[in-house]
Amino acid sequence: MTTKWDLTFLYQGYNDPQIDKDLEKAEQLADELAIYREKIVSGDLSSKKLKKVFKQVENIRELTTRAGSYGYLLFAQETTNEHHKTLYGKIQQRITDISNKLIWAYLEISKMPEDVASGYLSSPDLGNYHHYIEVSRLNKPYLLSEPEEKILNMKNLVGANAWNNLYDEYTAAFQFEIKIKGEKKILSPGEMLPLFRDPNSSVREEVFKKYYQKYADNSIPITHCFNNIWKDHGQNIELRNYPDTMTIAHVRNQTEEAIVTTMMEVIRKNYDLVQDYYKAKAKLLGQGKKIMGSDLYAPIGKDIKYSWEEARSIVLEAYLEFDNDIGELAKGLFDRNLIDSEVRKTKMTGAFCSATTPNIDPVIHMSFNGTPDSVSTLAHEMGHGIHDLIAGRNQTILNYHPPLVVAETASVFGEQILIKKLLKTMKDDEAKLKLIASQLEDAIVTISRQTMYVFWEKECHELGARRNLSAQEMGELWDNFVSEAYGDAVNFLPEQTWNWSTIPHFILTRFYCYAYSFGMLFVLGLYQKYLEQGKSFIPKYKEILSAGGSQFPVNLASSVGLDITTPEFWQAGFDYLKKLLNEFQELVNKQD
Ligand SMILES: [Zn+2]
Repeated sequence: MTTKWDLTFLYQGYNDPQIDKDLEKAEQLADELAIYREKIVSGDLSSKKLKKVFKQVENIRELTTRAGSYGYLLFAQETTNEHHKTLYGKIQQRITDISNKLIWAYLEISKMPEDVASGYLSSPDLGNYHHYIEVSRLNKPYLLSEPEEKILNMKNLVGANAWNNLYDEYTAAFQFEIKIKGEKKILSPGEMLPLFRDPNSSVREEVFKKYYQKYADNSIPITHCFNNIWKDHGQNIELRNYPDTMTIAHVRNQTEEAIVTTMMEVIRKNYDLVQDYYKAKAKLLGQGKKIMGSDLYAPIGKDIKYSWEEARSIVLEAYLEFDNDIGELAKGLFDRNLIDSEVRKTKMTGAFCSATTPNIDPVIHMSFNGTPDSVSTLAHEMGHGIHDLIAGRNQTILNYHPPLVVAETASVFGEQILIKKLLKTMKDDEAKLKLIASQLEDAIVTISRQTMYVFWEKECHELGARRNLSAQEMGELWDNFVSEAYGDAVNFLPEQTWNWSTIPHFILTRFYCYAYSFGMLFVLGLYQKYLEQGKSFIPKYKEILSAGGSQFPVNLASSVGLDITTPEFWQAGFDYLKKLLNEFQELVNKQD
């Protein structure tokens, strides 16, 4: 029997009067802070007082995130419930109002002159908040004057934002007419995507062709969206004096250009993993040396099913065998009813672990369906929960959430611990094949493919900053980067040259995709170190988790003796993946 979470440790229900009381209290605390306006930026506030301000901001966040996440969790558990929807909308509005009252403090911290900042940074009173101050100030060199920023903000609504909205709305309305087993169907984009993994190869081929052809048929508005994004970013670089096309992403990810360049080049050098994997998959599917472009995500191997009880005990055992303390934290998530695993019709799809504040337990939302992927999801989300609990022991709210590129540390690490355990106990070769394939495909899509996206995006930004690129030119560039990554392992369909135009990340956020590669390869690098060093690595690993969001990723790694500025660190992740690939190839050869 799957489980339902118990949220009464937050509030007693959607009509609990305490929700309003907490938000009122938060608002009152935010109003009280107004007396310090203009005193931070001028340096007139003593460090002791500034510490008080930070503490008060944390108290406010404690109240708003408790209410905010409760509203979200109720909505996620039953999306059609009108009471929940109303409550969630109301809470969101109030939180926005309260955060608006605090924006001045954030702006003053990011904009204070160097001498004021270094005064605060050298004060021991503010030790706990050093990192927060430093991160807030990363953007300072690229900020313009206040009136200029205002104009840019206003113009953005009809600029990049407008192009993004157009792209989203326009492509979301696409309808695909396809024929499945002789039957005509009209499908939405959301209904098309799962069919990329349909067990039937002719269905996959039809879906791939129709999907990309739709974007080709609409190339005029889509090409306009892309070209305006290239130009907008080009103007931004000029106006703000960014040293590199990708600086904006490095600031967001709290990382540096040299580290990302090193990582991306290591990924490029390891494209043979992609090619060798797909060659082996082609052989397995009986396609000779090349796999069809529409079969990249074809399901393989034998289906196995787990009961919830089996999943629970496998995942718990895996964590307990890894480390007793971590295993006990995982067990606590079950014991305190913090996991909602039941499949319900009105439940939000997908899985997440919601971590609110260091003082509040994380809770897990997922729909357990018994597949190995579902067991993996459980281990993944529990990893997030463990990360939150360990970080919560040492950090306060402003230091609690890890930056995006290292936010998946414990979740992906947890998945590897689970796989190791499953591979050790599995007797059935076909089940093993499926498990390893899903791991390798996940790594290829997350690491190699996302980085290939960024190589293409960078080239387009550099060429497209000053002149319009035609759809054909963007398609040719795309094909070049694709054939570099996939080599001669794949027979792509001609329609797949339009793949670039289907990826919303390019329009929404500049160079978003490398964060995926960074996040996963960082963890696989750590995991390889664990395989080399054994149990002696575990205290270092826990130190990384306990740092939460209190350090830059590079310092986080170096604090435990790992140097992410070197290619060797990133290569370690590939060494691990290549061992998995060897196992996969051996299993494929055995099938002959
Ligand atoms: Zn995750």
